[in-house]
Amino acid sequence: MQNLLRELPKVDELLQDSKIRSWIPKLSHKIVVISLREAIDRVRTKILNGQIISDVEHEVILNFNNIVEKSQIKSLRRVLNGTGIVLHTNLGRARLAQAARDQVEEVASAYSTLEYSLEQRKRGTRYSHVVELLKKLTGAEDALVVNNNAAAVLLALNTMAKGKEAIVSRGQLIEIGGSFRIPAVMEQSGCFLREIGTTNKTHLDDYEQAVSEDTAVFLKVHTSNYRILGFTKEVSTQELVELGKKYQIPLLEDLGSGMFFDTSKLGLSYEPTVPEVVAAGADIVTFSGDKLLGGPQAGIIVGNARYVEAMRNNHLNRALRIDKLTLAALEATLKLYLDEEIALRDIPTLRMLSCTKEELWARAKALKSRLLNEIADLVFVSVVETTGQVGGGALPLAEIPSAGLLISPRRLSINKYEERLRLARTPLIARIENDGLLVDLRTINVDEEQELISLLTQALVEG
Ligand SMILES: *Cc1c(COP(=O)(O)O)cnc(C)c1O
Repeated sequence: MQNLLRELPKVDELLQDSKIRSWIPKLSHKIVVISLREAIDRVRTKILNGQIISDVEHEVILNFNNIVEKSQIKSLRRVLNGTGIVLHTNLGRARLAQAARDQVEEVASAYSTLEYSLEQRKRGTRYSHVVELLKKLTGAEDALVVNNNAAAVLLALNTMAKGKEAIVSRGQLIEIGGSFRIPAVMEQSGCFLREIGTTNKTHLDDYEQAVSEDTAVFLKVHTSNYRILGFTKEVSTQELVELGKKYQIPLLEDLGSGMFFDTSKLGLSYEPTVPEVVAAGADIVTFSGDKLLGGPQAGIIVGNARYVEAMRNNHLNRALRIDKLTLAALEATLKLYLDEEIALRDIPTLRMLSCTKEELWARAKALKSRLLNEIADLVFVSVVETTGQVGGGALPLAEIPSAGLLISPRRLSINKYEERLRLARTPLIARIENDGLLVDLRTINVDEEQELISLLTQALVEG
């Protein structure tokens, strides 16, 4: 052991090596030295643990290479989504439109009009950049944007019902991804939950009987990620608005994944749109920026100017504040919605959702030929029908007929193949089905196809 420890090279000696020196321009002298020390330490630990190492210097260089190569890879980076789930929460939900990416770049790299009014030559508000757009797109009197929709619900309840009661149907006390529970958020907002009805049925009467002096709001929550089927009853927005008028109680509606136009235009089932809910008289409507809307993570609040103004001035709003990069992406995305045709063409989420199965099938066939041209001796490839999903807790039952590739390596286990692709420099995330890797093409862009082919090929031949 003592002999091995004596063989550990010094940092200065290693720095003579031209291969090691070649990292200096890329990383800096200091980082190379730190990485060399770390590599030496690692090998020292191995020796102290009793490992027999035949070439100590070589082992140190191997460790060094490992450390610097890892340091080149970003932790948060792009992946290829082969799952067919368009709004995959774990994979970052919505891809941004080009216009949104451009505006982020512009605002990120320079000073901006974030809180400066050019006309008045004085301080402005960050919300001004999207309020007029949101009013136009939803028909609401006023609007506010915060960090995400969970924050929007928290702020709305805190502003409208703190210390009082919010009446909500038991059928709508939902948990969504990341253990966000409506009842828990309500508690945090400082209001009291008055649960009414049963899991499957809540009637207008249930609301009316629960009304008391303590009632501050009716809360209606979109049961985004699940459906109760069969013997069910939910009270409509209109009915709640009518009842609210009778008792002077506002309606707060959390739509989850809000949309400006009818989702049946995307080939999906009908969902109430934000303008419809606003027109039906809901006092406040909240929804996400990065679900069906296809924008950045944000919580959008629209509705009655009196409540919106109170939320804007609530101190809690300062803690839930939206940042400038998000605002940049949101303004650009909202602008695309001014013309539905343009939204459908330019917003990746909408484009992916409305892509037909035939189109995907044709792409899958072409990809299959290309793959077999390169590696016919290594894999079986077939074009298969798949079922895509919207994801992001929107339209949970929507099954979108899609097409993809089922790839089975001949000489490599499917688990090993999946692992290599998942751990590749650009990871491919796909599921294993019928002993093959299923790559759904709905969530792969045409301009990602070449990369997909390279990854699928590389993972078969490496190692
Ligand atoms: C998704 C969702 C939320 C949370 O939205 P985030 O933008 O993810 O914070 C809240 N309520 C409902 C009904 C949802 O579907």
